[in-house]
Amino acid sequence: MIPAAFEYYRPTDMAGVIALLQEHGDDARVIAGGHSLIPMMKLRMAEVPHLIDLQDIEGLNSISVNDGVVTIGAMTTQHDIINSEPMLAAAPIMKEAALQIADPQVRYMGTVGGNVANGDPGNDMPGLMQCLNAQFHLTGPEGDRTVDARDFYEAAYMTEREDEEVLISVSFAVPVGGYAYEKQKRKIGDYATAAAAVQISKEGEKVATASIAMTNLSDVPVWSEAAAEALVGTDCGDAAVKAAVAAMLEDIDPTEDNRGPVAFKRHAAGIVLGRAIARAWSRA
Ligand SMILES: Cc1cc2nc3c(=O)[nH]c(=O)nc-3n(C[C@H](O)[C@H](O)[C@H](O)COP(=O)(O)OP(=O)(O)OC[C@H]3O[C@@H](n4cnc5c(N)ncnc54)[C@H](O)[C@@H]3O)c2cc1C
Repeated sequence: MIPAAFEYYRPTDMAGVIALLQEHGDDARVIAGGHSLIPMMKLRMAEVPHLIDLQDIEGLNSISVNDGVVTIGAMTTQHDIINSEPMLAAAPIMKEAALQIADPQVRYMGTVGGNVANGDPGNDMPGLMQCLNAQFHLTGPEGDRTVDARDFYEAAYMTEREDEEVLISVSFAVPVGGYAYEKQKRKIGDYATAAAAVQISKEGEKVATASIAMTNLSDVPVWSEAAAEALVGTDCGDAAVKAAVAAMLEDIDPTEDNRGPVAFKRHAAGIVLGRAIARAWSRA
C-alpha cells in the first residue's frame, strides 16, 4: 500500500519541531521509529500531510539512572532498552517486557516515546509505565510539563498530550522487589491478547507493596489498584492470587476481535496475571 502524499521535515532542534507543529496543527505529526505511524499511513488509517522526523534532535536518545530515578529519552529504542546494563540493573522488568514486543527488526526502530505516545491499547509500554508509576515529560509552545502515566490515557489513540506537544522522556523511581511481565499472544511478533505487568515487594513473608497493570484488555491500559490491594499484607498464596485476579477482572473491559471473544480474553487475563504474580513473588 502507498500512503497519501506528505511533506517531510527534519528539523535539528526542538524549537523547529514545535514551530512546525504550531504551523500545521492537526495536519502534522512527529515520526520517531515509524513502525506504528507508517503502517497506519500505508493502510490509509492515518493521513498526515506534514511529517516531522525527530531523529536529528539531540538528547532524546539516552538512558540514565540517577538518585534512584530512571530516565529514558523518547527516542530510545526497544533494542537500546534490552541492551542497557544500567537499565537491567535498575528495572529488569523493562527488558523482560521489551523482549516480548514484536521482533528484533521492529525493536531496532520502535521507540519508547512512540510506544507510549501513540495511545494504541495493544502497545506493551503504556501498561508497563502505569505499573511503574512513571511520569511522562512533555514540551510544547507553553513550555514543559509532566503528566503521570496513570493519567495520560483517555481512550484508544487519545491521550493527555496536546497536538503541539512532544514527549521528550519518561521517568520512574527505581522499582523495588520482584517483577514480571507476562504476555499471551497468538504468535511471536504479535500484539498481546492479554498481558500483565507486576511489581511486588516483600517484608518478612508478606507482600509489602504491589502494582499491577494490564494491556489490551480495554481501550486504555488498566492499572488495577484493587488487584494490588488484594495482595498487600498477604502471603501471596492461592487465595490472595484468586482475589487479585477477581479484582482485576472487575477493572478490565475487553472487546471481541480477531484475538478472540470476550470470555476467552477474560480467561487469558486471569492466567497471565496469575503467572505474573507467581513469578514476581518468587523474585521478591
Ligand atoms: C509487526 C509489528 C508488530 C508490533 N508488535 C508490537 C507489540 O507486540 N507490542 C508493542 O508494544 N508494539 C508493537 N509494535 C509497535 C512498535 O513497538 C512501534 O514501533 C511502537 O509502538 C511505536 O514506536 P515508533 O517509534 O515506531 O513510533 P512512530 O510510529 O514513529 O509513532 C507512533 C505515534 O506516536 C507519535 N509519537 C512518536 N514519538 C513521539 C514523541 N516523542 N512525542 C509525541 N508523539 C510521538 C507519532 O506522531 C505517532 O502518532 C509492532 C509494530 C509492528 C510493525
